[in-house]
Amino acid sequence: MSKQSTINLKCPKCGLEHPVTIWESLETDVDAEFKDSVIDRSLFMAECPGCGEKTEIEQDFLYVHKERKWKIYYACTDESEKKILTELGESDVKDGYRIRVVSSKNELLEKIFILDAGLDDRIVELCKIYVLAAYQEEHPGCKIVELYFFTRDGGNCLQVIADGRPSGVVNLSEMLYSGMQRDYSGKLGYKGNRKYFIDRQWALDTMGVE
Ligand SMILES: [Zn+2]
Repeated sequence: MSKQSTINLKCPKCGLEHPVTIWESLETDVDAEFKDSVIDRSLFMAECPGCGEKTEIEQDFLYVHKERKWKIYYACTDESEKKILTELGESDVKDGYRIRVVSSKNELLEKIFILDAGLDDRIVELCKIYVLAAYQEEHPGCKIVELYFFTRDGGNCLQVIADGRPSGVVNLSEMLYSGMQRDYSGKLGYKGNRKYFIDRQWALDTMGVE
């Protein structure tokens, strides 16, 4: 079951306090009609009834796909990340759920796209190491580059965020994906207590890059 609660929010523009419904979790198999609101982030937006100002609510969120046995926890602060990890313990792993903890909405959406595309997020993270290296070679001026997986017209893509700004889209080729799948088959273990974090650091550890 999806879980909602109500909080009082003070509008940052006009100061009006108004009740807002917060989605603590969404079971996407059951409440499928709300999934698009996660993707376009409107599920996390509150509109002030007084002045119409829209505010993004920073909140923890759990995305569940029961049939595919995925749980993606979005922790909006370090504090809530610790709380989630403590509560998780080992129990959910035994239910056969694939569990991920992410600390940004970009990562949350990326995981949902990967889940929907039927891909393995570990392979995607490994591919991103190569794609990022190639991008940085071609764009030596960009300091901080992030890549986020998404699908467009059925194709697998990576959104490039360079120095905080969307800076284009690159294709994630099937050849690279299947090559990684082949090369790293049997080597996709989890490292220490970071087992719920499949990210760039995980990929670097797996490749043995310091
Ligand atoms: Zn207002």
